[in-house]
Amino acid sequence: MSVVVQKYGGSSVADTDKIRAIAEGIIERKKTDPNIVVVVSAMGKTTDGYINMAKSVTDKPCKRELDALLSTGEMISASMLAITLEALGCKAISYNAYQLDIHTSGNHGKSLIDDINVDRIQESLDEGYVVVVTGFQGINDEGDITTLGRGGSDTSAVALAVKLNGKCEIYTDVDGVYFTDPRAYADAKKLDEIEYEEMLELASLGAKVMHSRSIELAQKYGVEVYVGRTCGTVKGTYIRGGKNMKLEDKVITGIATSDADSSITIKELDMDNVSALFEDIANKSISVDMISQTAPIDGKLNVSFTIPKDEVDECIELAKKYTSDENVAVDNEITKFSLVGLGMKHTSGVASKVFRIFKENNIRVKLITTSEIRITCAINTSDKEVAIQKMCEEFNV
Ligand code: ASP
Ligand code: MG
Repeated sequence: MSVVVQKYGGSSVADTDKIRAIAEGIIERKKTDPNIVVVVSAMGKTTDGYINMAKSVTDKPCKRELDALLSTGEMISASMLAITLEALGCKAISYNAYQLDIHTSGNHGKSLIDDINVDRIQESLDEGYVVVVTGFQGINDEGDITTLGRGGSDTSAVALAVKLNGKCEIYTDVDGVYFTDPRAYADAKKLDEIEYEEMLELASLGAKVMHSRSIELAQKYGVEVYVGRTCGTVKGTYIRGGKNMKLEDKVITGIATSDADSSITIKELDMDNVSALFEDIANKSISVDMISQTAPIDGKLNVSFTIPKDEVDECIELAKKYTSDENVAVDNEITKFSLVGLGMKHTSGVASKVFRIFKENNIRVKLITTSEIRITCAINTSDKEVAIQKMCEEFNV
């Protein structure tokens, strides 16, 4: 019998009333789908609270211990949901990463799932239990607790759906995936479906609906993912492959913005040091996104790139190995503004239209990257609102 893996985000399990509401929904659903696995995030803003608590002691908490601390959030919500289901007369059992051997590799705070032993889940399902699993956490080769990175419960859920050959449903506090964040543009439309590729671009570009690694995983194994509102009545969005493109479909499926990055510009860098610098940055697991460089003059060039804001200090230290202090400049007021759409593959002139709109509105574009289905421009954060407004008017047909 097929398995349904449901995932509930922090806002959906924020307090005991909310947990009771989802427990009631699960019991109802079990009547038609007897095999339910539920992945939970930590209650409300618990994870933020723990991070702040650790940071009130030290700027740089030990990453191993931070993972141990953060993982407790999901343990509480998982056991609380199981307790609530039981209290409502439904057999339920919770498991954490250790109990299931959710095996991970890689660095603390951004570990990757290697494998999950689903034997215990399968047995519990066969015995009629609703199985509740802690999202976001894993166990590494040393037997230590790891976490998958912020928002990682989505990835836990998709990974379980892959291993259990099931469907995946992500429940959150919005109705689904929108053309752009409705908080930024009130008239943004909800999408009925979106391709993995498009969703992956949007998610990794700052659309906060889902952890981007979860989409990657879903695409790799062809798991269809449904995103909808917890206890909602409106139909959500299906993320899947092979979307039926209509002949005159929209060129742009979505717009995502992110203020999470800063740009770093390094001047007068010896051209022979470029690869060494990026190697140093990669060795620290700092993810560089947009890059542009000038043509070398007398063997020197200027290079600009974007990195997550919280990794700026570490990156500046690395850069200073290769050039003098005054040649390293940081801009924290940038926004990555991305337009995504499969239709771009077959439509020309999208980029020129985008640049025209920016120009007409006096928006300066500082860095640009593109893929077959995406254009990303780094602009001043102060121009973000106007940019969203104008692009939505132009493309949100
Ligand atoms: N609780 C974790 C976080 O806040 C994981 C998740 O919610 O997916 O990032
Ligand atoms: Mg999330």
